[in-house]
Amino acid sequence: MPVKYKTPASFSGFSCLGAQCEDTCCQNWEVKIDQQHYELLKNVMSADKDEQNIFEKRIYLNTRPVVSEHDYAFVRMADTGFCSMLDDEGLCYVHAKYGEKLLGNVCTMFPRVISRTADSVELSAALSCPEVVRRCIDDTELLKFNRFKPTELPGGKNYPVLRELSQQDDDFYSGNFVYVRENFMLTMANEEQELETRLYTLVNMANKLSEFYHRGCAKPGQGQIESVMATYAEPEFVTRLGTFIKSYDAGSLLNMIVVHSVLSIKLQQAGAEKISVLYEKIIQYYNDETKSIPEILADKITSIRNSLDSDAQQYVDKAITRYSLNCLYREWFVSMPDPFTYVQMLLLRLSILRTLIYLEAGTEQDMTLDKLKKKIVYIMYNFARNIDQNLEFLKVVYDALSEQTMMNIDFSAVFIRID
Ligand code: SF4
Repeated sequence: MPVKYKTPASFSGFSCLGAQCEDTCCQNWEVKIDQQHYELLKNVMSADKDEQNIFEKRIYLNTRPVVSEHDYAFVRMADTGFCSMLDDEGLCYVHAKYGEKLLGNVCTMFPRVISRTADSVELSAALSCPEVVRRCIDDTELLKFNRFKPTELPGGKNYPVLRELSQQDDDFYSGNFVYVRENFMLTMANEEQELETRLYTLVNMANKLSEFYHRGCAKPGQGQIESVMATYAEPEFVTRLGTFIKSYDAGSLLNMIVVHSVLSIKLQQAGAEKISVLYEKIIQYYNDETKSIPEILADKITSIRNSLDSDAQQYVDKAITRYSLNCLYREWFVSMPDPFTYVQMLLLRLSILRTLIYLEAGTEQDMTLDKLKKKIVYIMYNFARNIDQNLEFLKVVYDALSEQTMMNIDFSAVFIRID
């Protein structure tokens, strides 16, 4: 069977903005080095004493308990926050001295992510790049995929595959992944339904599936998965879910308590990161000594959304829709024990993102669609860099939610109703 090479239409023709980029990706996060490139670089740099010193000072091994070949080592960031391998002109020392072949997979490929299913090679894009965010949120062809040529990738045909579906016959979780993901994406892309209705449909569908479809599950009965999909595609059923979520009004304070807790941990752990700086600025702006911060945020978020005109409200919902479609396509829920766990975490992540967007929009006196778009781009790529693609931090959040028994469908509405 010939392999299909697929990429979302919005990502076709992407090229890095290079020096024109407003926020180069060579800063403020962990630059990973895969094992193969770590060994290659170590080898060439140990031929000279000075080079060896540079290598030892600037590159360190990953000592965390779960280490994959893709994050075998890291490049140390300088005190400025930039990658320590950048020279005075902001150019990469490794690239300049040894060429692209010695760059780690992440540096060569970023923001591209390659995954492999049974019949396709999928090229997706990380939202930690501002140019990817712009392309993503302006997408007018949701669910359209184009063919890409592997020879046009930075590393050519020798592209690194980040993840691959299990080919074991008895792995029913992986075996049904592509079909289930397609239905999740269809649900999220149906913009005839309001955003909150779609999110609530998605999490209920994932919850129902997880009863019999999860890691290590027995083979689902004939048509069992299809039957759940058909139920959650019925317009009347979806309308009922929409009516429930729209009438649910007990969530915003609890939601803001959770959002504030997560962002406060981030502030404590990494106060200099851009998302922390933004959140600190937001809480100072809305500060009211008579109330707690979650109470203030819960009060403000409704009035801010209502103060935006309908074009702006729709723009935020469209941007969140496209952000979530990118996540569903790129992240692969089978890395979690079951689809519900993935979707519940996605709901929380989107809730933090929406909260930041609205609260930041509320600090602007004279909001135009153009200003709103710029704010969304800034928040989304920094949110992706600092929180959404920081797996260690998300694990801390997941553990905290589990401890509070919030990894439970009863709390899903809380994360969806932000106002
Ligand atoms: S963030 Fe994106 S556009 Fe900017 S330098 Fe990195 S890959 Fe290029």
